[in-house]
Amino acid sequence: MIPFNTPPFVGKELDYMKQAIESKKICGDGEFTKKCHRLLEQQTGCEKVLLTTSCSHALEMAALLTEIKPGDEVIMPSYTFVSTANAFVLRGAVIVFVDIRPDTMNIDETLIEDAITSKTKAIVPVHYAGVGCEMDKITEIAKKHNLLVVEDAAQGVMAYYKDRALGTIGDVGCYSFHETKNYSMGEGGAVLVNNREMHERSEIVREKGTNRSRFLRGQIDKYTWVDVGSSYLPSDMNAAYLYAQLEMAEEINNNRLASWNKYYEAFEELEENGLVQRPFIPDECRHNAHMFYLKVRDIEQRSELIAYLKTKGVAAVFHYIPLHSAQAGLRFGRFHGEDKYTTKESERLLRIPMYYGLTDKEINYVVESVYSFFKR
Ligand SMILES: *Cc1c(COP(=O)(O)O)cnc(C)c1O
Repeated sequence: MIPFNTPPFVGKELDYMKQAIESKKICGDGEFTKKCHRLLEQQTGCEKVLLTTSCSHALEMAALLTEIKPGDEVIMPSYTFVSTANAFVLRGAVIVFVDIRPDTMNIDETLIEDAITSKTKAIVPVHYAGVGCEMDKITEIAKKHNLLVVEDAAQGVMAYYKDRALGTIGDVGCYSFHETKNYSMGEGGAVLVNNREMHERSEIVREKGTNRSRFLRGQIDKYTWVDVGSSYLPSDMNAAYLYAQLEMAEEINNNRLASWNKYYEAFEELEENGLVQRPFIPDECRHNAHMFYLKVRDIEQRSELIAYLKTKGVAAVFHYIPLHSAQAGLRFGRFHGEDKYTTKESERLLRIPMYYGLTDKEINYVVESVYSFFKR
């Protein structure tokens, strides 16, 4: 059986976790957390990166930092993971879903402006598959209407839009280090605080609404409750696990890209024959091979292909029932404009095995299995 995903493991994780344990400082913001912060800041160019317990929590922090209030509207695609919406719904926001572009599956930037009302506070682009949204246009709209931008870059670690790291372009960016993502700590994430006015508050919100971070730096002599907040910092043992992978980020990225490129070439013929569509990467984007997907004719053919691959021992999956059509989506949001592509394109898409360390043999087998489905 070729799994759909297997969590990345580079070898040094246990050693670093042992060091964290032996340091007798295993709670949040220990040595390995600091090392991760420094590495991520260097790699992205963001001045303030803070590890969190998940990307869902990074998004919740973003919703607190953007000061979303009940009744405020937040614009995002419907084709995304539930956490993108939940973070803002938890603050009482109304979610306004906008259609996606069929080529990248990202929010259609040309439809955003029409969805803006006097209640709109933020735009939340999601960089699907680690392929950047059209951020120049989104930033321009946000500036014009005085809106904040929160990037859901859960899938976008080590990916770029016009040479800027995804997650560093909006006011706040959110990364995921979940087991299914390119770099992992089991459960975890990071918040990238690009807007300087939010720097101090980001530390407070993450530390239960206290000024403990300033206290630890010796800037004040006791710490106290100063704002609303929660506990969003991971244990240093988890950070130690992640650090091993961040040190190898370039190598993991190149390994994934090599596998992605092999799939891409191998499926060229199927695409030329009009049987599938491969992912599209705009010229402005450098992606990170977070996933490899194929789009087939329709939902029936997708179900058949997934079932067929299963008989061959290949795990393929689909995801994202569009949020606007889900029970909670109907309750907490509305779709602005026409759903031209969100439902239709989401029903055609399936993801095939993609992970660090995928072998050529496995890639060839997956490719052959897909070809044999269409030759039946
Ligand atoms: C994985 C993912 C999340 C949630 O990440 P967690 O770290 O599991 O909370 C949010 N948004 C998108 C687009 C994701 O892919």
